[in-house]
Amino acid sequence: MQTLLDTLAGIVGPAHVLSQGDLSAWEQDWRQRGHGKAFAVVRPASTLEVAGVVKACAAFCAAHPESGLSIVPQGGNTGLVVGSTPDDSGRQIVLSLQRMGAVRQIDAANLTVTVEAGCVLQTLQQSVLDAGYLFPLSLAAEGSCTIGGNLGSNAGGTQVLRFGNARELCLGLEVVTAQGEVWHGLSGLRKDNTGYDLRDLFIGAEGTLGVITAATLKLYPLPAAQLTAWAAVPSMQAAVDLLGLAHRHLGAGLTGFEVMGQFALSLVGSHFKQLRVPLFQDWPFCVLLENADHESEAHARAQFEGLLEAAMEQGCVSDAVIAESLGQAQTLWQVRESIPLAQAAEGLNIKHDISLPVSAIPAFVKATDALLARAVPGVRLVNFGHLGDGNLHYNVQAPLGLDAAAFLRDFEPEVNRLVFDSVVAFSGSISAEHGVGSLKVDHLTHYKSPVALAMMRSIKQALDPHNLMNPGRVVKV
Ligand SMILES: Cc1cc2nc3c(=O)[nH]c(=O)nc-3n(C[C@H](O)[C@H](O)[C@H](O)COP(=O)(O)OP(=O)(O)OC[C@H]3O[C@@H](n4cnc5c(N)ncnc54)[C@H](O)[C@@H]3O)c2cc1C
Repeated sequence: MQTLLDTLAGIVGPAHVLSQGDLSAWEQDWRQRGHGKAFAVVRPASTLEVAGVVKACAAFCAAHPESGLSIVPQGGNTGLVVGSTPDDSGRQIVLSLQRMGAVRQIDAANLTVTVEAGCVLQTLQQSVLDAGYLFPLSLAAEGSCTIGGNLGSNAGGTQVLRFGNARELCLGLEVVTAQGEVWHGLSGLRKDNTGYDLRDLFIGAEGTLGVITAATLKLYPLPAAQLTAWAAVPSMQAAVDLLGLAHRHLGAGLTGFEVMGQFALSLVGSHFKQLRVPLFQDWPFCVLLENADHESEAHARAQFEGLLEAAMEQGCVSDAVIAESLGQAQTLWQVRESIPLAQAAEGLNIKHDISLPVSAIPAFVKATDALLARAVPGVRLVNFGHLGDGNLHYNVQAPLGLDAAAFLRDFEPEVNRLVFDSVVAFSGSISAEHGVGSLKVDHLTHYKSPVALAMMRSIKQALDPHNLMNPGRVVKV
């Protein structure tokens, strides 16, 4: 194996092949659900270097099949399903794209930007903002996650309702295949029906088919005004009714619609005391709405007021505020985005990132809350998410006083089965936006149709016949 390290050092430079010392930043996942042991962390600085690394690893595996060597692509390592960290075999190379962060080109007339995979999402948002454009992908990890990871996991976030998820924002890709070849697919075309869509194969593949090295992404004009409102609603059904009204009143201006259960908000209140959580504790859920308007702030406000008035008359909103300033709006979003952090601070928990038809959500929540309460007396539900997309983060926290690790050990399989069975019964998906990783790979085998799984395995075997790329994630072959 030392010869391989020397070869890799020759490609990326000895300073960028790390095999000694503390590698925990690359070996430990964000949720602390998996701590692996890397053979090495390799940090290329260009597409050619990525291709060289993959080619060298493929050749090494062909010569030493018993080595069990494989590659785990990694961006910001903020993924939530243990997909970007190595297993504990000590035979995996973490291929970190963090040195490839350049924004290559903004094409103003085509409304596109071409960017390298290691670019941090927030850096890209700011670069295009400085040029007068909007790149709408937005999520709480945007200060650390990268474009390669966003595309690898087909990230969603808070603007999917209007702009779609990472897949819908991507027009073209540059990819290093599992054989170490470069596929130059950086097209800025909105129409291209020339056969199978290779781009879509790599998006959401979680690094199991190849390494994304760059992408051409869609840009949008900046809105004239963006307003945020916070509303208390008497039930999940009322939140769904409010969503319907918001679609009718705001049309394409409706860019965000987030629901937050009261317990989720109370965790933010107790773990982030400096944040002012709006005081609507008498109501079971609050909703955060965003209206982006291309006319003016006055127009946006009038639309919002009309919506909230109609919603109160109809009884689906109990109380509401519209942010008076950008600062107030940012605070409201900060409260929403602090929920995952507050939940992590409260202790290990069982996450379910699920999607359902919006119309089925109230009945799903009622039925599944009751099932969980019966199965685990005192269980605490952290229920929040992107209701506008039918996406709930339906997370389960240990009953008060019960050790979190013991709770996971004793209850995780039963809680997962109960929640996922219910999701399937309501025609939903067991992973909405976080992906499969290692955490959900067995659940996928159980819940996905055999026909779909067989097609997925055929694709994996065709593109990565030696199982070099992120093995054991997404689909087992
Ligand atoms: C606080 C918090 C909030 C979050 N909120 C959201 C949310 O609202 N919506 C959402 O969708 N996700 C969310 N996430 C999950 C996570 O941030 C996203 O999935 C993000 O897109 C991952 O990007 P990353 O660069 O950190 O990728 P990583 O975690 O490094 O990798 C994720 C997956 O992509 C693969 N990968 C990474 N880079 C490449 C590449 N260049 N080529 C091929 N495959 C690659 C990895 O192998 C892995 O399987 C959140 C995470 C945190 C911590």
